[in-house]
Amino acid sequence: MSTSAIDLSLPYKKRVDDALHNQQLKVALDRATGRMAGQRVAAMGAVDAPRLRAQVRQMKEHVLRTWPELLEQLETQVTANGGHVHWAKEAADLQRIVVEIARKANVQKVVKAKSMATEEVHLNQALQRAGLKVVETDLGEYIIQLAGEPPSHIVAPVIHRRVEDIAAIFQRELDMPPTLDPQVICGVARGVLRKEFLSAEMGISGCNFAIAETGTCCIVTNEGNGRMTSTLPRVYVVVMGLEKLVPTVEDAFLQYQALCRSSTGQQCSVYLSMTSGPRKPGDVDGPEEFHLVLLDNGRLDMLAKGYGEALCCIRCGACLNVCPVYREIGGHAYGSTYSGPIGAVISPNIHLEVTDVDKLPYASSLCGACRDACPVQIDLPRMLLELRRDVVEAEGATLFDRAAMQGFSKMMQSRSSYESAGKLGSLASNVLARLSGGNLTFLPGPLSPWTASRDLPPLARHSFREQWQQRRAARKQIV
Ligand code: SF4
Repeated sequence: MSTSAIDLSLPYKKRVDDALHNQQLKVALDRATGRMAGQRVAAMGAVDAPRLRAQVRQMKEHVLRTWPELLEQLETQVTANGGHVHWAKEAADLQRIVVEIARKANVQKVVKAKSMATEEVHLNQALQRAGLKVVETDLGEYIIQLAGEPPSHIVAPVIHRRVEDIAAIFQRELDMPPTLDPQVICGVARGVLRKEFLSAEMGISGCNFAIAETGTCCIVTNEGNGRMTSTLPRVYVVVMGLEKLVPTVEDAFLQYQALCRSSTGQQCSVYLSMTSGPRKPGDVDGPEEFHLVLLDNGRLDMLAKGYGEALCCIRCGACLNVCPVYREIGGHAYGSTYSGPIGAVISPNIHLEVTDVDKLPYASSLCGACRDACPVQIDLPRMLLELRRDVVEAEGATLFDRAAMQGFSKMMQSRSSYESAGKLGSLASNVLARLSGGNLTFLPGPLSPWTASRDLPPLARHSFREQWQQRRAARKQIV
């Protein structure tokens, strides 16, 4: 059966080519991203969106300005609440810390709520190597765990799969009778996962935001699995990127509103689970042990390198849903835990095991749709251009690039050479376009990559200045 999956072992260019020719993937992406983008527009349109975006931006900038103090405040509060705080510099540190927590607590089985930070550091694989059973409990994550795939979207991990694909996975892995009814498919998953929740000794989740003033870790979900992960097992571990901070409870609800409206187009999520530490005497539920693991993995360097603006990201996924590149190739073509425009900025900066990471900043048309959709007004196109500059500086410009730039610079210094070059370019491009029957479909030598994936219209026969003069002369005649 043909599927919407992309072979992740292929090199970047081949993955992109395969994605572009995968009709099933296109159907799945069109359906989901179109729906989510439309819901976001409606939900943000129902509030004073410019004001909300400006407030969230201001708050996140404040977080970055007072980052060390807020992290210390968070640690103090979590500890005062009876929890344990751990600091992980790199992925290996985080893996070691969580495995040690599990060993000390004699854990055999772990249930997990959705977490991009744990995907980033391959925590599941580390826990499995340590002999633990790990079960993803977000429905999308559970499906891709069964399929042996990583997530392809930061909010909707299984966005690349159609219901037909998911039914086939459930038939193969869970002996589900043939059906395409989403209710039945969900019911099968619910039956399996409930048993896992009741027998797991440890729950692990990510963290949408942690409140520094109270030491509270918040997870935003629609399925209830986050609530069960954080309350049923006797040990609860939260894995959080260092930047997922908000100073106050008021700020938490500001971010919550922007997140729900921008990601799924909801006024509020079905669940907002807030954990401030282990169960206290008299509490009806909650874990006996609570651990917060704070992950750096390159985030502090990101700020120092000038890409701190990307740390304001609240992982809503809106930029992916509007990106014309993401909508064509999907998340797996990027080859990174984080895909789409924000992924193309984060992936080259934090410490990920990603090949071809320097290609990702070029996976953008720089149209600016991501910046316009972002609830934090993050200027992703600016950072993508700066990352391209970094690549050129690191690799060095080619001889052709240097010669072209020197020629361009000379040409721009003299009006006559600028006009002569324009005339020459117009003549040559129009001759070539006529041979190609319309637009330029082939350019020679080092220019050929330009036309490898797009046609180029020929230059105008007359310059703007000439056209302006002709129009003025025509107008004078009429008057
Ligand atoms: S960059 Fe903006 S739009 Fe993209 S995921 Fe982050 S907050 Fe959302």
